[in-house]
Amino acid sequence: MNYISVAIDGPSGAGKSTVARAAAARLGYVYVDTGAMYRAIGLAACRKGIAGEDADSIAAMLPAIDIRLVYQGGTQHILLNGEDVSDAIRTPEIARYASKVSAVPAVRQFLLETQRDMAKNGNILMDGRDIGTVILPDAPVKIFLTASVETRAARRYLELAGKGQQVTREGVLRDVVERDRQDMSRAVAPLRQAADAVLLDTSEMTLEESIKAVLAIIQKKTEENRGV
Ligand code: C5P
Repeated sequence: MNYISVAIDGPSGAGKSTVARAAAARLGYVYVDTGAMYRAIGLAACRKGIAGEDADSIAAMLPAIDIRLVYQGGTQHILLNGEDVSDAIRTPEIARYASKVSAVPAVRQFLLETQRDMAKNGNILMDGRDIGTVILPDAPVKIFLTASVETRAARRYLELAGKGQQVTREGVLRDVVERDRQDMSRAVAPLRQAADAVLLDTSEMTLEESIKAVLAIIQKKTEENRGV
C-alpha cells in the first residue's frame, strides 16, 4: 500500500496548523503537528531548569523522554512521558524554548525517525519547518505556507489574547521576528522552502480560502503524480 504524504512547512504564525488540521480532516488524513513535539521537549527542558541553549544538557535529557501523539475523538493530544501536555506547550515561553531546543542537532535526530515512521502507517499531512526538505524529501505534495510578518503577528496576537494570555501586539511581533530569525539561521535543518514545494502566501486570505487553496494544491499534485 502506498500512502500519500503531504508536507506543509512555513514560518510561525502563518496559520499552518489551523489550515493543515482542517485540510487533513476534510481529506481523512492523519494530521501530524511536529511543532508540538519540539514544544514538548522545550517544556521538559524548562521544567528541569535547563537553558534552551545548553545543548549538552538537553541531549543528556533525551533518553528519559518519551513523546507520543495520540488521537482522541479526532483531536491530536501530545503526551510527554504519559502526561497530556497539549495545553501546557501553548505558551509564548514554551514557544521560545521550542525554537531554541529545535536548533540542537540531537533533538532533531531524536524526532526524525519518529516523524518518518508516522508517514509509513497511513495518509498523513505533516506540518513543520523541515518536513519537505529533511523529514520527507520524497513527499509527493509539498506546500510552503507563509504570510507577511505583520499578518502573522496579528493572527498570533488574536489567538493568544483569545486564550486570555497577557500579551501585547509589540511583544508578539518581536517574538515572531525572533523566531523567524532563529528558525532560518540555525545550522541544522533551517526553515526554507523545498525546491519542489508550492508557495502559498495567505496574507490576503481568510482561513476558509487558505484551506481551499491547500486542498486545491493537494488535489492538483496528486493528479499530476497519478498521471491524470
Ligand atoms: O509550529 P510551532 O510554532 O508549534 O513550532 C514551535 C517551534 O518548533 C518553532 O519555532 C521551530 O523552531 C520548531 N520546529 C522545528 N521544526 C519543525 C517544527 C517546529 O524546528 N518541524
